[in-house]
Amino acid sequence: MNKYINIHSHTYCDGAIIVLNCYPNEIQNALSENNARYYTVGLHPWYISDEYEIALAEIRLTASNPSILAIGETGLDKLCSTPMLLQEKVFKEHIAIAEEYQKPLIIHCVKAYNELIRIKNELNPTTPWVIHGFRGNIQITKALLKAGFYFSYGQNLSYLSESLLLIPSDKLFLETDDKAILIEDVYAETARLLSIELKQLQNLVLQNFEHVFLKKA
Ligand SMILES: [Zn+2]
Repeated sequence: MNKYINIHSHTYCDGAIIVLNCYPNEIQNALSENNARYYTVGLHPWYISDEYEIALAEIRLTASNPSILAIGETGLDKLCSTPMLLQEKVFKEHIAIAEEYQKPLIIHCVKAYNELIRIKNELNPTTPWVIHGFRGNIQITKALLKAGFYFSYGQNLSYLSESLLLIPSDKLFLETDDKAILIEDVYAETARLLSIELKQLQNLVLQNFEHVFLKKA
């Protein structure tokens, strides 16, 4: 097994295990090119259009594929122009697909953590929910931990160290997202902030990846 695991990337590169994020209109091609082994598929709140049902149908069509490890990214974003009611409706459709196929959810959340917690408590889902690109403060982190979320960190880690230090080792993931950063650097910075050996961090993220995404015991 590779030493670095990048659970949310928009581009493929060698040297790490990459979970490649695809939009619904990209997923068929991505699966047939098969350069990454693992994918997620979801309709980002920024890209919800009148034709969102077509995108959801595409997600349903591919969700059972074993290379698709999770549903998303999907979620809530108060800074985008899509109305919140529609965002919530589309988000809940993703949640239903994740539940049906028993796959984790990769969540994009901007300034909507209260709504996110409300929805999770309301629906009581059985699959893990991972907040990607997490940037919340201590108070938000504590509330999300209480609600049982997983967290994935990427850019600007040093600004987030207080939150990072609150995360139990079995709830932690790392990623590059669409940023021009290296997963190796994200690992090095995380290990430094947590005051643990790189190898220890690699082992714990690997364990989490196997447990949450590959469903090993
Ligand atoms: Zn992303």
